[in-house]
Amino acid sequence: MKSLKKPNDHDLEVLKGIVGEGHAVFAVDAVDYTHDETPDISAEPSIILKPANEAEIAEIMRFCNSEKIAVVPRGLGTGVAGGAIAFDNAVLLSIERLDKIIEIDTDNLMVVTQPAVITGDLQRELEALGLMYPPDPASKDSCSIGGNVATNAAGMTAVKYGLTRHYVTGIRAVLPDGKIIAYGGKLVKNVAGYDLAHIIIGSEGTLAIITEITLKLIPLPKHRVDLLLGFDTVHEAASAVSEIIRQKHLPTAIEFMEGDIVRLVGRALEKDPPMKEAGAQLIISLDADTEEELERKYFELGEIAMELGAIDVLVADTRPFQDRLWDIRRSIREALIVESPTIVAEDVAVPRSKIPELWEGARELGEKYGIRVLSFGHAGDGNLHIDALKGDLSDDKWEAAMEQYIPALFRLAVDLGGTITAEHGIGKLKKKYLPINFSPVELELMARIKKAFDPNGILNPGKAI
Ligand SMILES: Cc1cc2nc3c(=O)[nH]c(=O)nc-3n(C[C@H](O)[C@H](O)[C@H](O)COP(=O)(O)OP(=O)(O)OC[C@H]3O[C@@H](n4cnc5c(N)ncnc54)[C@H](O)[C@@H]3O)c2cc1C
Repeated sequence: MKSLKKPNDHDLEVLKGIVGEGHAVFAVDAVDYTHDETPDISAEPSIILKPANEAEIAEIMRFCNSEKIAVVPRGLGTGVAGGAIAFDNAVLLSIERLDKIIEIDTDNLMVVTQPAVITGDLQRELEALGLMYPPDPASKDSCSIGGNVATNAAGMTAVKYGLTRHYVTGIRAVLPDGKIIAYGGKLVKNVAGYDLAHIIIGSEGTLAIITEITLKLIPLPKHRVDLLLGFDTVHEAASAVSEIIRQKHLPTAIEFMEGDIVRLVGRALEKDPPMKEAGAQLIISLDADTEEELERKYFELGEIAMELGAIDVLVADTRPFQDRLWDIRRSIREALIVESPTIVAEDVAVPRSKIPELWEGARELGEKYGIRVLSFGHAGDGNLHIDALKGDLSDDKWEAAMEQYIPALFRLAVDLGGTITAEHGIGKLKKKYLPINFSPVELELMARIKKAFDPNGILNPGKAI
């Protein structure tokens, strides 16, 4: 970082010249570009560039590499690990103008797209043709598909359909020195050489700037139903998740909510959630190609749930009821912020059978450090959002508690065979905790991969590794 240069007036003129009038702005005129969705951190880029195409991106990178100027790629700024914030006077390179779907190939069931297309828009275009691109981060109506590839994003459907990574078959990208690579394509199988696309996926903008993506698609399932399961205790609900998987069921989604969270959402939305007295709830989504298959699946799951002590199983087979259930799930973040404006939200993951131990361990850590800890999230893929709420604690007490609680929570997840981040990424925020997750040998190898892509260390410095 020390050897990187803050762009001078001449550099800024050159960079403005590449993107043209109106596409280079300063932070005073564009405050939104000083932060992403990570609470409490921001920084002013030296300049914000909005290139029109890959050729302009390559020219920017060639110049910045030769001048050793840091560049931070930015999708649509919904990240929650500070990855798209330009610290230390870096140049912020927004890919927002690369926003076209290039081709929907219905012969090969593939889509080729530019990176700034909003994920939800892409999904809707495909659904109209009876096709599905499954990864569905909760931010899908505001994040970009390029950002999803850069962070290997995933959402509720990961339990059945997997992560962004599982759908990428090709990537075009600009390297830090301005050279362009086009790896893979509309290929279902491809084992030639090292898989460069899969090294770039999840690299959080530290290895290359993604300019085009090829994704494989699947046929859109015809029928869907959601179930709401209430349990007296969190332990029963968490154990039910493990048991459902153990009995070889793979629903589209299994979302877990502590009862306290459901009640908080009810207050925030001023609505009465169904089964609001339950100690914990699960929302389970199922899909199938025929109504008979769907019915069979939800009867089987209902039986398992009742055997495991569920208070009740509600079947949401109409759109309004489904929307009501998912409104509760999607409003959790908002409701928690109403309860406590300061929150530390972690997204650890463990093998699915370890969910009960993760929840219990997090609760015990909350007790140990005197903080309120609430959990919810994508239990079906072993990923819990574990939120620590500051509430009325003094700043000093809160900071002291967090210093011990965060690494202890990460150690708990790793000791259970898990990871410190399931989907939000390392970014700026979690870098110091990497040694909890990786051995020195693994960290050294990652540093060498970074060096191979970016010998001058200009691309998104200080992030991810
Ligand atoms: C309310 C809310 C809910 C969320 N829910 C989920 C969820 O369910 N699952 C999940 O995985 N995430 C979730 N996120 C996090 C976030 O939306 C994802 O990480 C998303 O993939 C970021 O996309 P973006 O376009 O906003 O990228 P940005 O925030 O702009 O960037 C994220 C990172 O990717 C890099 N990057 C972006 N575009 C490119 C590119 N073209 N080339 C190279 N690097 C690039 C940036 O440098 C940065 O490091 C949520 C966020 C919010 C605010």
